[in-house]
Amino acid sequence: MPVDLHTHSTASDGSASPNQLVQLAVERGLKAMALTDHDTTEGVEDALGAAEIAGIELIPGTELSLEYDNGGMHLVVLFLSPGSGPLQDRLCELQKGREARNEQIVARLNALGMEMTNEEVRDEAGAGSVGRPHIAAVMVAKGYVPDIRTAFDEWLGNDKPAYAGRPRLDPEEGIRLARESGAVPVLAHPHTLGINRAAEMAELLERLVAAGLVGLESIYSSYRRHEREGYSHLARRFGLVPSGGSDYHGTYKPGLELGVGYGDLVVPNDVLEELRDFAKSP
Ligand SMILES: [Zn+2]
Ligand SMILES: [Zn+2]
Repeated sequence: MPVDLHTHSTASDGSASPNQLVQLAVERGLKAMALTDHDTTEGVEDALGAAEIAGIELIPGTELSLEYDNGGMHLVVLFLSPGSGPLQDRLCELQKGREARNEQIVARLNALGMEMTNEEVRDEAGAGSVGRPHIAAVMVAKGYVPDIRTAFDEWLGNDKPAYAGRPRLDPEEGIRLARESGAVPVLAHPHTLGINRAAEMAELLERLVAAGLVGLESIYSSYRRHEREGYSHLARRFGLVPSGGSDYHGTYKPGLELGVGYGDLVVPNDVLEELRDFAKSP
């Protein structure tokens, strides 16, 4: 039976609740599923409860956005137990930093003549964590921009007038905190790193392995067969486990299904068992 080690729920930017995700995993015949919402473990408790009733294994986790100038560096952290711990506590601090950042963006928009309150933005986000898409949605609702895309292109995107940076962890710090918390760090979807040269990739992996990296996400929805094989081979060369997952976001990524990606994704349970060997219970 296959597994899926990378999924998102309404606790970050997925459309399905943690509970619905677990039901989907059961329907797909998965043996285990990891919940890895962006920079939060908020949905984990609900998912663990649902998984226990459904008789499926739920691996608690998160997906960290790390500071990396070259491109997007994400770290899937598996076996991160809910509650307190070195990484868990740091996530709470970062959460406060993000709230301050959202308020900064709203203040800038106000100064630019677009009136809205922090409360309106929070209402837009509902129970999930607040982010730029919710601010954009309020801008659309109030008629300041025709659509979300324009909101980002003209106001909220990087280096645009209302942009404010968000606090992120350094790669080494994220990996170290994950290990100190007994969790298992996996470098996510390596194509987004923006690295084209093999030597540069090798240099980065060496650095991250020295910091305690355990896995490299090699079996990913959008990868073709030769890419999955290539990354798996690269992972083994550096003593890393070739992890995998769909990066399911529900209706926000149309055509991409839990467990099977675009139809041809299979993450074997063996990978999970290898990763599990690195997890330490608190
Ligand atoms: Zn990601
Ligand atoms: Zn993801």
